[in-house]
Amino acid sequence: MITAEALIDLNAIKLNYQQLSQQNNHQPLIAVIKGDAYGHGAIKIAKALPNANKFAVARLEEALQLRHAGINQPILLLEGCFNGQDLQLASQFQLDITIHHHQQLIDLENYPLVNPVTVWVKVDTGMHRLGFSPYEISDVVARIRRTNKIKGEVGFISHFSNADEPDNPKTEQQIASFTRATQTYAGNKSIANSAGLLFWPHAHMDIARTGIALYGISPSAEHTGTDHNLTPVMTLTSRLIAIRKHAANEPVGYGEAWRSPTDTHIGVIAFGYGDGYPRLVPTNTPVYINGRTVPIVGRVSMDMMTVDLGSAHQDKVGDTVELWGQHLPIEHVAKNLGTIPYELTIKLTSRVHQRFIPEE
Ligand SMILES: *Cc1c(COP(=O)(O)O)cnc(C)c1O
Repeated sequence: MITAEALIDLNAIKLNYQQLSQQNNHQPLIAVIKGDAYGHGAIKIAKALPNANKFAVARLEEALQLRHAGINQPILLLEGCFNGQDLQLASQFQLDITIHHHQQLIDLENYPLVNPVTVWVKVDTGMHRLGFSPYEISDVVARIRRTNKIKGEVGFISHFSNADEPDNPKTEQQIASFTRATQTYAGNKSIANSAGLLFWPHAHMDIARTGIALYGISPSAEHTGTDHNLTPVMTLTSRLIAIRKHAANEPVGYGEAWRSPTDTHIGVIAFGYGDGYPRLVPTNTPVYINGRTVPIVGRVSMDMMTVDLGSAHQDKVGDTVELWGQHLPIEHVAKNLGTIPYELTIKLTSRVHQRFIPEE
């Protein structure tokens, strides 16, 4: 019997793509599928999105796996290439590259390429992680053009630091800085991530890069995907493998981290930190079972977690438990755990069985 299982709804991913596209007047979208599509299975997700204008991943190896799986749409390397050999592979496999650093520019100048590449220059508008400062852009663009190794116009990307906070003026400052730095160039401009797309619609520019929203998850801890008319793609479940009578004042699990105030029944679920659930969970972190939520109690162990089913429950060994998804928004679970949904889905381990619907 399969216990830990991530059910991935490929119809939901198609619907979310359509929804985001419609909300933005059918302007182009880059589907961000780095990190194995945030733990949803990048190849299956990419195949479910034949209309995506472009995909984006963080690293070359991720893009090569997609190419080997027969994904032929454009793929953008969000961090570009880290040496000349990688650049040559990017050219061979027709990957769009980002140039955010001087060494990447020097590699483009020095290495012979089999195909011209599509180049995006990264502008640092205030994230201060990657990118050239606005005053450097004209020199960088001139040098890129002189290489004669590029396809079309040089494009421009930047990244928001606070777009999930609708009241934060930082986002408008970043939009203004990006516009000033790039407005004299004809190439495509892209600054919006999911939060930019959902909360700052004028940030869409020529093409937006959407990751988390595609998976039906809100980029904001104050919302859920359904607030944006999105459908959760992943439902994570496991099973009850034991139900035990538990006396008041008795502890449960490692370190006796929790004691029951009353007589109750403890349910044991086959899902632990070895499957990717955080080990330290605040009291009252919920799971969903048989139409209600119950709290996780005690420390999560490698293969199991314990929940307080209450004294009057009707649950049976073998019943399905939802850890997040259709009935229990991942945004609520993440907030309770002091993290963000991105970290929860991407940290699921290979022990969690992935089941895709519709099946092929
Ligand atoms: C991951 C990433 C995105 C997607 O962000 P979401 O919040 O998931 O939409 C967009 N742009 C860059 C540069 C990224 O690294």
